[in-house]
Amino acid sequence: YVHIDHVRKNFAETAVLQNISLEIEKGEFVTLLGPSGCGKSTLLRAIAGLETVDSGLISVNGKNITDLPVQKRNVGMVFQSYALFPNMTVFDNIAFGLKMKKVTKSDIATKVAQVIELIHLTGKEFAYPHQLSGGQQQRVALARAIVSEPDILLLDEPLSALDAKIRKTLQVELRNIQKSLQMTMIFVTHDQEEAMTVSDRIFVMNQGEIVQSGKPEDIYASPANEFVARFIGSYN
Ligand code: ATP
Ligand code: MG
Repeated sequence: YVHIDHVRKNFAETAVLQNISLEIEKGEFVTLLGPSGCGKSTLLRAIAGLETVDSGLISVNGKNITDLPVQKRNVGMVFQSYALFPNMTVFDNIAFGLKMKKVTKSDIATKVAQVIELIHLTGKEFAYPHQLSGGQQQRVALARAIVSEPDILLLDEPLSALDAKIRKTLQVELRNIQKSLQMTMIFVTHDQEEAMTVSDRIFVMNQGEIVQSGKPEDIYASPANEFVARFIGSYN
């Protein structure tokens, strides 16, 4: 469903993505896990179309998207910082993308109401971002990404700015929503425990390469090398 084939990316002299190849099935929840600077965000941004690649192919749902502009890829993205529109209500923040796509008013109302319920924001429709907690703001960001039904949802450390308890709650809720919608998601974290909790499969990255991929329990039980063993073993 998602095919990444021999993707390379350099920034100046530095190889940030070195020959990345991976495949993701439709409806899978996969995680890119690795230390700071290993290239996780760059890979996500390349899939989103926010970054060009030097060589290789990216395709989603049978369509080669390698050279398509962001707007022509049906990809959703949620970042660590909420990036909501401060002058818009929760409802309008979520509806914004649908309005751009010229969805009818009544369809917008229905779809927004559905995601608001799904993501437990009922009652907050007319609140402004500054009136919400960090966790609630990130729920809005998620709702906004989900409502336009992207082919893939890319999540770049969406929970890492939240405190531990809210983070755990949202991990579970995110996973439940992903399962109920059967939405393909690529999640990025440098937190091994978080990756273990939420993922169908994990791709462990180091220095621009995927060093191991597999189910959380398999990676935990048989790390491919010392780097993975140390990284996975060091819960913090
Ligand atoms: P973190 O966990 O800290 O978010 P990451 O795995 O997401 O790290 P990237 O942001 O993908 O890492 O960065 C990978 C490497 O590419 C880093 O060495 C970074 O300094 C470099 N890099 C990223 N963006 C640029 C850019 N626009 N120009 C030059 N170098 C960049
Ligand atoms: Mg990053």
